Amino acid sequence: MELAESSEDLAFRDEVRAFVAASLPAALRDRVLGFRRLEREDYVAWQRILHARGWGAPGWPREHGGTGWSARRRAIFEEECFEGGAPRQMPFGLSMVAPVLMKFGSTAQRARFLPRIVSNEDWWCQGYSEPGAGSDLASLKTRAERRGDVLVVTGQKTWTSFAHWANWIFCLVRTRPEGKPQTGISFLLIDMSSRGVRVKPIRTLDGGADVNEVFLDEVVVPAANLVGEEHGGWTIAKYLLGHERTNIAGIGMCKRLLKRLKDIARNELEGGRPLLAEPLFRRRVSQLEIELLSHEWSLMRLISLEQAGKPVGTEASILKVRGSEIQQELGRLLMECAGPYALPYLPEALDPLFSGETAGGALRNALAAQYLDLRKVSIYGGTNEVQKNIIARSVLR
Ligand SMILES: Cc1cc2nc3c(=O)[nH]c(=O)nc-3n(C[C@H](O)[C@H](O)[C@H](O)COP(=O)(O)OP(=O)(O)OC[C@H]3O[C@@H](n4cnc5c(N)ncnc54)[C@H](O)[C@@H]3O)c2cc1C
Repeated sequence: MELAESSEDLAFRDEVRAFVAASLPAALRDRVLGFRRLEREDYVAWQRILHARGWGAPGWPREHGGTGWSARRRAIFEEECFEGGAPRQMPFGLSMVAPVLMKFGSTAQRARFLPRIVSNEDWWCQGYSEPGAGSDLASLKTRAERRGDVLVVTGQKTWTSFAHWANWIFCLVRTRPEGKPQTGISFLLIDMSSRGVRVKPIRTLDGGADVNEVFLDEVVVPAANLVGEEHGGWTIAKYLLGHERTNIAGIGMCKRLLKRLKDIARNELEGGRPLLAEPLFRRRVSQLEIELLSHEWSLMRLISLEQAGKPVGTEASILKVRGSEIQQELGRLLMECAGPYALPYLPEALDPLFSGETAGGALRNALAAQYLDLRKVSIYGGTNEVQKNIIARSVLR
C-alpha cells in the first residue's frame, strides 16, 4: 500500500474541498458544525447534491453507478466532506443493503433499487435486532410464512435507526422454524408503506428519537423481495455486518471531531489560559490524535485488501471497537471543554426552531448532547464486548 498522497490525489483533494465549499448550503454546514439536530431533508439535500455531481456512491464500483474510486480517494473524499461540515451520507442504503444487492441480489432487484439508493429516492432502515435478539441475533423470531408467491411477516424489530424516515426496511426473518437457528433465516426487503407496518419512536439519552420499534402484523411481501436463497439469509446478514462495522470505524467523523475539539479548546479558558495549553488536557488530545492516525491506516489496509478481492473478515470487528473507543473519548474531551455548562443540558435547544437561551450558550449545550449521543457507538453494529469475543476467537487463536 502506497502511503504518500500522489500529486493526482492532492489535486483531487483540492477539487473535493472546493466543491464542498461551493455546494454545501451554509445554514446546513453551521448546524452540522454546531452539533445541532438534522432533519431528513438535510441528509436528502446533501445526497442529491453529491448525486448530481456523480459522487453519490463513493464506495460503489462504476458498473453499478458508483465512482469506482480507490481506497485512498474514498478516504480523501470522506475526510474533505466531513471537514467542510457536510452531513454524513446515511449508510443503510449506500453501504449496507447496496453491497448485499450487488453480491446476492437478482438483476431485477439491482436494477430496481440501486439507482433509487444513490439518488436518495428511497431511504432504507435495518431490521435485524428484536427485543429478544440483539447480540444473539440468530435467535430472532419475526416469522415469514410462505403462501404461494408471497410471504406473510409477523413480529417486532427494535432499535431500528431512522425507521420513521424510511420507506424500505431490509429484514432478517425466520422462514424455517426447525433446525439450527442460523439455517432458517431469510433476508427480505419490505416496503414500509405496506399494510401492517407500524413504527413507534424510542427516546434516547440525549433526548432525541432516531431509533424506533417496528411492528409487523401480517405484512404481505412479494417473494420476489427475498434476496439470495430462501433460508440462506445468515450468510448475507454476516456479509452486511462486515460492511456496517467497517463504516462505524468513522475516520472522517473522528477527524472532524478532533478538529472541532482543538478549535473549541483553544477558545475555552482554564485559569486564564486556553484549555488546549493545559498540559494534561493537551497530552490527552495528542494521545488521541496518534491513536486516530494508526486507526486510519488500519482502515486503509483493510479497504485495500477488500478492493484486491479479499473479503472483509474479523478485522472489521477490530476497526469497530477502535473507532467507537476513539469517538467516545473525543465526545468525553468535548464535554470537558463545556465544563459545568454541560450539566444543565436542554435537549430541546438542539431543535432548529429553538429560540430560547441555554446556560453557557448553544455550543456548550450541544457538546453535552454529543457526548450522550456517542454512548451508542459501542453498542450498535454489535456491542464492543461481543466484537472482542469475535477477535479473541478468530484472530488471537
Ligand atoms: C442507537 C442504536 C441504534 C441501533 N440501530 C439499529 C438498527 O438500525 N437496526 C438494528 O437491527 N439494530 C440496531 N441497534 C441494535 C444493536 O445492534 C443492538 O443493541 C446490539 O446488537 C446489542 O443487542 P442488545 O441491545 O439486545 O443487547 P444484549 O445482546 O442483550 O446485550 C446486553 C449486554 O450484554 C453484553 N453481552 C451480550 N452477549 C455477550 C457475550 N456473549 N459476551 C460478553 N458480553 C455479552 C453486551 O455487550 C451488552 O453489554 C441499535 C442500537 C442502538 C443503541
